[in-house]
Amino acid sequence: MSKNTCCENHNALLERVFKKLKLKDSEKQLLTEPFREVRVQIPIRVEGGGLKVFSGYRVQHNQARGPFKGGLRYHPSLNLDETRALAQIMTWKAALIDIPFGGAKGGISVDPTKMNKSELEALTKKFTQKMGPLLGKNTDIPAPDMGTNSQTMAWIFEEYSKRFGYTPSIVTGKPIEVGGAAGRTEATGYGVAFATRQFCEEVGLNLEEVSVAIQGFGNVGYYLAERLTAMGVKIVAISEDYGGVFNPDGLDYMTLWEYKEKTGKIYGGRNKKISNDDLLETECDILIPAAMENAIDAHNMKKIKSKMIVEAANMPVSFCANEYLEGKGKIIVPDILANAGGILVSYFEWVQNKQQFYWESEETIERMEKKLHKAFKNVVFRAKQDSSSYRDAAFTIAIERVLSAIHLRGF
Ligand code: GLU
Repeated sequence: MSKNTCCENHNALLERVFKKLKLKDSEKQLLTEPFREVRVQIPIRVEGGGLKVFSGYRVQHNQARGPFKGGLRYHPSLNLDETRALAQIMTWKAALIDIPFGGAKGGISVDPTKMNKSELEALTKKFTQKMGPLLGKNTDIPAPDMGTNSQTMAWIFEEYSKRFGYTPSIVTGKPIEVGGAAGRTEATGYGVAFATRQFCEEVGLNLEEVSVAIQGFGNVGYYLAERLTAMGVKIVAISEDYGGVFNPDGLDYMTLWEYKEKTGKIYGGRNKKISNDDLLETECDILIPAAMENAIDAHNMKKIKSKMIVEAANMPVSFCANEYLEGKGKIIVPDILANAGGILVSYFEWVQNKQQFYWESEETIERMEKKLHKAFKNVVFRAKQDSSSYRDAAFTIAIERVLSAIHLRGF
């Protein structure tokens, strides 16, 4: 059986909601097809003088509610299909948490761990030159995603400003020194922890009694682990793509981080080594996939033991696995809600850049929690009203908002 592409997977997840909303085929096409998609060639000189040529992408999905917004991913497997699906998710995410953005995504098909800093700078600046005309502070605003970080955003800001004049609001997720928002780096992980707390309360799970397994220990996984630990949650397993560790008595995330800083891997102490696949099948109450798409699909869905899955990554559960796990009564907190803290604080950064007036990080986190709380309440209410899953409820709210903006504005 051939595997669904990312877009097929994502669109299949939407189909039930489209049916319920009785959308016409033309409306479905309008909502699933991107507004614009671009691939550019990025040649750069690498160390030693050789030439390497990469492919860069930007997909702008929908701008009915505001400028295109979404991250840039540097990953060897990135392609146009994946970028399209991820761009669409950004539209729903922004609509669900009710911020004035549409959705976009982009990136470069490259393994950033195999490049040195000056090669990455050259690559990013060349990408910005090629995509420059498509971007704009009121048109399309990139941000970090997998494989990129605040340094990448600083390079984009510099390259764009050279050509178009000083424009900090052209990207979000910048370092604080050049207009980044205090709290942006922590935002996605903190938002996921906040979602976990909200949904535990909702379904009657006591935070101090639950065990959690986290797949992915990058920026999101780290801040998520920090917040969950502060909330009294026991983290029993953490992994990265090469594998991870398990300890039924609980792991100390900070020690693991220190191992990783020193050795590049999270192994150490008396923790049991596990594979990345083992992590997903860990005996725990809550599983948090915080890495790639389709981590949970037909090959492992029957082995998932957790009661709840909180989607810190985008699209970590395939369509087929979603149907199976829902049928088994598992609670899935959907990506467009669970990981929306990142784009939300990006919005705060964009607002601050435009006003040149900066907030303290406490203010950012407080505003984030308030806005996310409202979105959680709306999703829970809608799921009860429609007797639907949280995912369908979240999509329903987002799609209704986007459609309404399209119809109000006309074409
Ligand atoms: N890359 C993040 C996401 O997938 C954040 C995007 C943004 O801040 O624009 O939600």
